[in-house]
Amino acid sequence: MTNYIKEINADEFQKEVLDKPRAVVDFYSTECPPCEALAAKYDALSEIYGEYITFVKIFRQGNRELAAQLDVTGSPTVIFYKNGEPVGDKLGGGILRSDLMRNLDALLTDEEREAAHAKIIPYETETDVVVLGGGPAGLTAGIYLAQAHVKTILVDTALPGGYVATTHQVSNYPGFIEPQAGMMLSHYMSEQAKANGVEFRAAVEVGNVDLENKTVTVDGVETIKARKMVIATGSRPRPLGLPGEKEYGGNGISYCATCDAKYFEGKEVIVIGGGNSAIEETQFIAKFAKKITIVHQFDHFQANKVAQEELKKLDNVEVLFEHEPREFKKYGSMDMAVVAEDLTTGERKEIRTNGIFVFVGFLPNIEAFGDKLAVDQWGYLTTDAEMETNIPGVYAAGDVKTKAYRQITTAVADGTIAAIAISKKL
Ligand SMILES: Cc1cc2nc3c(=O)[nH]c(=O)nc-3n(C[C@H](O)[C@H](O)[C@H](O)COP(=O)(O)OP(=O)(O)OC[C@H]3O[C@@H](n4cnc5c(N)ncnc54)[C@H](O)[C@@H]3O)c2cc1C
Repeated sequence: MTNYIKEINADEFQKEVLDKPRAVVDFYSTECPPCEALAAKYDALSEIYGEYITFVKIFRQGNRELAAQLDVTGSPTVIFYKNGEPVGDKLGGGILRSDLMRNLDALLTDEEREAAHAKIIPYETETDVVVLGGGPAGLTAGIYLAQAHVKTILVDTALPGGYVATTHQVSNYPGFIEPQAGMMLSHYMSEQAKANGVEFRAAVEVGNVDLENKTVTVDGVETIKARKMVIATGSRPRPLGLPGEKEYGGNGISYCATCDAKYFEGKEVIVIGGGNSAIEETQFIAKFAKKITIVHQFDHFQANKVAQEELKKLDNVEVLFEHEPREFKKYGSMDMAVVAEDLTTGERKEIRTNGIFVFVGFLPNIEAFGDKLAVDQWGYLTTDAEMETNIPGVYAAGDVKTKAYRQITTAVADGTIAAIAISKKL
């Protein structure tokens, strides 16, 4: 913590925050990864803005009454004050440096802002390996590298954990008899990486990535210069962009049959899509669900003939061809609805169901890397058996790379192979 930051208790809140012309307060907790990610940014920004704005930290669990009064329900929560009144955004979760700066800037005059920004000095950090992405692939690479005494910095645009952190329950990761909360499994992985010495840059904005020179600019100020780079940025479901999709993703809407079909034993589900993955995943879901309705925009499937023939053998699958979803609704736990439009008549109807699966494809997260990396026909990175891409010294691991099956175990395997290959070369 810098000299500009003062740790206070509730009884000093009036004097140290409300009575100051400009103040910022960080409500933090212990054993809180997003609080740790924020602490480094808060420290750095206090050096830049501390001359003009009072920086305060309050331990939330030790000051519960004040936190409740201010409607602070999670850690970290950052609140900005001007003349005793809260102003700007109330920030929480994986807080970005740019969001902090935007709110701090708003408290300053033009001259002060210019003077503050003049204090921002870009700097370079050298490391052996920079890992981009802190899901299972990146964290596993980090664990193996750090254990081989390879200095490793792991950069994630969000908080580490990847998809696992948002997965309700994981029942197929070896080593656990009972299903594990995804959040806990990813927490163990990232704590293991940290305990072994991996340095984290979490919830950061990744700027220029130079694959040839193995440099990555983070938050506009730090350039990480590495000898090798691992890209483990995963993929994301291709969004339909419909109302309700974001809200109920992972909570009524699933993108993974292997993971979630088992929760629909004897239930009804709707599948959106008509390509190979939609049809193959439907066959898997049909082992559990009582009834499946496939909603597909065309008058025939795009899936291969074999998959279509297999589908015909199922007696619990109905198909609504030439229908497109327009909205997703949730009425309660396992009580969802799809508003579907008949493309031939324009008529809309609401179909009630227990759960919705969307299989309209995934997209690899490779936008940050330009177009020099070799990819397969679906845009996933191609590598050799040691996970090295076409650019020497740049490796790819996990869902971002070409492969037949995308699971935690396969991501962890890729991360392992990349890390061992790198350790042997450094
Ligand atoms: C809803 C759902 C449920 C699932 N359930 C299961 C299950 O039960 N069991 C199972 O085995 N598999 C499951 N899977 C699949 C599994 O989660 C993935 O295969 C696995 O997480 C892939 O790991 P990864 O490290 O390659 O990528 P991810 O887990 O996707 O992690 C990628 C990380 O990279 C970060 N990132 C993205 N872009 C950048 C960038 N430009 N710079 C830096 N960082 C970046 C992201 O923030 C993220 O933290 C599920 C998938 C989904 C979608």
